[in-house]
Amino acid sequence: MNNNMFSNLKNNKFLFLVTLAYFILGFITIHFALLGILCMILPFVLLFKNQRKTWCQGYCPRANLYTRTGKFTSKYSMKTPKFFVKGYMKWIIFGYFVLSLFFITMTTVKVAAGDVAPMNYLRFLIVFPLPKAMPQLFSYGGAAPWITHLAYRFYSMMMTTTLLGLGLALIYKPRTWCTICPIATLSDGYIKKAKG
Ligand code: SF4
Repeated sequence: MNNNMFSNLKNNKFLFLVTLAYFILGFITIHFALLGILCMILPFVLLFKNQRKTWCQGYCPRANLYTRTGKFTSKYSMKTPKFFVKGYMKWIIFGYFVLSLFFITMTTVKVAAGDVAPMNYLRFLIVFPLPKAMPQLFSYGGAAPWITHLAYRFYSMMMTTTLLGLGLALIYKPRTWCTICPIATLSDGYIKKAKG
């Protein structure tokens, strides 16, 4: 993505469509879920480049989705609990994130080595399988089983965190998820360290 494309996107009110498109593409073929890796890399590319949370401040499609969703219940929204803003909640979510990445990596390696069968379904919060298989418009049989496994795992993580964020947006302020988002936790840590 060049600089012009970035400036055109900044604070675009339709950014939430990127998130919706991501989840819809998963129904066409789950392999599109691997695009989520970009969502994890881009915030850090911009962070290292600008030494600021550029992604969070204007480009994050998920934050845009939360902002728009939260508007529906903003009249009734509750005060964000203190342990979200200053407490241990962000470390619990960070732990979940690290654990997820660990499981994603280890199980993908094991599937690639032929030690375990690939996971061809979605899971909520790493361990809870969804009762129904995800419909697939195209099943791309040419992909190696570990790629399909990685895609399902990635989609599961994105789905879990997006649903949690949406739930928080409806109960508390729209961007409550941002107070505990692992990307923000890592970015804050980096900026703090960079500033000495
Ligand atoms: S904190 Fe997370 S959800 Fe919020 S804007 Fe940043 S990356 Fe997006």
